[in-house]
Amino acid sequence: MATYAPRCPHCASSIDVPESFLSKIKFWTHKSTANCTACSRTVDLHQATVMGDAFGRWADHFSQDLRKTVDELPILKNVEARRVIGTKVHDEDVRLLSSFEALSSTVLRQARQVLRDKSHGEEVLLDAAVLRDPASPQEAIAVILGRSAVSSGQREWEALIARLGKSEYVAYFPPIATGVEQRVREAIRDKKWPGRLASV
Ligand SMILES: [Zn+2]
Repeated sequence: MATYAPRCPHCASSIDVPESFLSKIKFWTHKSTANCTACSRTVDLHQATVMGDAFGRWADHFSQDLRKTVDELPILKNVEARRVIGTKVHDEDVRLLSSFEALSSTVLRQARQVLRDKSHGEEVLLDAAVLRDPASPQEAIAVILGRSAVSSGQREWEALIARLGKSEYVAYFPPIATGVEQRVREAIRDKKWPGRLASV
């Protein structure tokens, strides 16, 4: 079984905990706290361990889903990729990622709030699907739609990912204010295979 770093139950940032503390928590013999360097709150280390495990499991689950999705993608030339992602997107807006691990960690950073809410048992949306270009269906990209819980304002974001090589990707995260494109909602809604982190 994988082990995961403890995380702050409030903001889901990882918490640095000395190994000696961790072993104490495991046996429930000692109650300890730490300060979260990200949100400055005092964190109960047992709760942080529970949060870290839940967050890590959901993150792994989504990462596997993302891998299946991007594995389905055709390898596109740069010009094709940019056309499907959107010709108004400038070079400085996209990220080039040279491995699936780099892509996954970039996406998981974006998804932190959603994964935090999900780890608290709240209803969220986080899903990836293949989107085919209606003009040339052999050209396809992956899209991700995320939505945080009601308690976090149900903030929605999207990501568009094209494959440029065997494990080489270009990813675009539009500004949240831009809103989610209709074609992204439709691709997520029409997704054929199961494996969802959560449904709408
Ligand atoms: Zn925190």
